[in-house]
Amino acid sequence: MPQKQKQYITAKDIIAAMQQKCTARERKMIEQACTFAQEKHQGQTRYSGEPYYTHPLEVGRLLAEIGMAAEVITAGMLHDTIEDTDTTIKELEKMFGKKVAFFVDGVSHLGKVRYQGLDARVKSLQKLLVATSKDIRVIIIKLMDRLHNMRTLEAVPKTKQKRIAKETQQVYAPIADRLGMGMIKTELEELAFKHLDPTTYTTLKKEIDTTIGSISMAAIEKKVKKVLVAMDITTATISSRIKSVYSTAMKMRHKKYALEQIQDLTALRILVHTIPDAYNVLGILHAEWRSIPGAFKDYISLPKPNGYQALHTRILIDKHILEVQILTHDMYQHAQFGVAAHFEYKGKRHGTVSLELEWFDKLLANKKGEKQVPWAERIAAMQRETVEDPDFMGTMQADFLQERMFIFTPKGEVVDLPQKATPVDFAFAIHGDIGKHAEGAFVNGKYVSLRHELQNGDIVNIKTGKKTTVNKKWLDWVKTSEARARIRNAIKKSS
Ligand code: MN
Repeated sequence: MPQKQKQYITAKDIIAAMQQKCTARERKMIEQACTFAQEKHQGQTRYSGEPYYTHPLEVGRLLAEIGMAAEVITAGMLHDTIEDTDTTIKELEKMFGKKVAFFVDGVSHLGKVRYQGLDARVKSLQKLLVATSKDIRVIIIKLMDRLHNMRTLEAVPKTKQKRIAKETQQVYAPIADRLGMGMIKTELEELAFKHLDPTTYTTLKKEIDTTIGSISMAAIEKKVKKVLVAMDITTATISSRIKSVYSTAMKMRHKKYALEQIQDLTALRILVHTIPDAYNVLGILHAEWRSIPGAFKDYISLPKPNGYQALHTRILIDKHILEVQILTHDMYQHAQFGVAAHFEYKGKRHGTVSLELEWFDKLLANKKGEKQVPWAERIAAMQRETVEDPDFMGTMQADFLQERMFIFTPKGEVVDLPQKATPVDFAFAIHGDIGKHAEGAFVNGKYVSLRHELQNGDIVNIKTGKKTTVNKKWLDWVKTSEARARIRNAIKKSS
């Protein structure tokens, strides 16, 4: 019998995963991107032995699953063409339009950001990822890229696995969390943990399976459903979730708990249509079963800083302490996909920009969930203005970082500098000798003078000359005290 050929992902699969209706134009674009990716990545393979193009296509499918628009999906399908093939931005622009090319360009730029592995730099790397992508959707593509790479990490050489897993745990999972993408965050953390600490992961997973194996969730679900229906709540959807191994391990570590002390290993999830329904369900449950003191949390009236909303409680049912989470369908959609859930379908109703505002607002809110007043005021002012502001995202990025900006070396190393810094600041920040002999600079490939004002995200290559030396005029151009001190020093020495 002939061997059955392995079926790889196709454009059809991606379109089928889309959450919204796909127009004829969008269908054509996705099909074209599929052919394009196959041709461009021809001959390239992944560690697993599969053709390389399956990876960007899977990223496209993930983006479709979380409800992103066709342009974002297409960009996901093409996200590695600039970096790994001879494709140019111009080519993408011509074939797929400006928007798709812009997203791919953004993702390629993020690809150059190197993780240093030093905890002190992690925070700035997260900030940097957010800063250097001019649109939050670029980060969403990058997150899905990482998610697919994590799902297929098994095939990657061991040494590389650890590095990627660590970067995922320290950089990407927290970004997903801040964007409210709970499901993505949980999966990234779980996969990272599995590779970083395989022994703990395997042992704990077995223990969890044994513990929850003794509870019949199906019977509990049935019982709860019956009670709700008796009280006229007929449209609630009931399901259960199992706590991830990673968050179980973290809870045990932080609270110094044994596994038996963790009460939310399994949780009942009840989805309803309206907020009053949610409180109604809560009331019914508390009337029927005993609730556990101190366990009730009202995240509907007091949402978490990343926007998460739900009612959490614990009840004693069949001699088990059971965690119950009550959410509306909208809240659940948000809890899974966060910012992405609100982008497209709601964007059409309320205007995408205002939603982006809302989300950046949340992104910028500090840990306690308090909004920074000047920022909130500015948002309110901007919301009153026209909806389609092309500079909008740029303005927001700059405000987010305020006085900071991040400049890259051609190798992708990062230097963070104050606003209006010049190539001289950059040169001294890299190395004293480069500073002293700086002649000019290539900024994003274009030659500029040393007094040129750098912009956030610029790639700068300093041109040095053996005979060039420090110039007194530079003191007027520099913004960093480091450069200033070094210039003064050099002048003193030469006079
Ligand atoms: Mn990729």
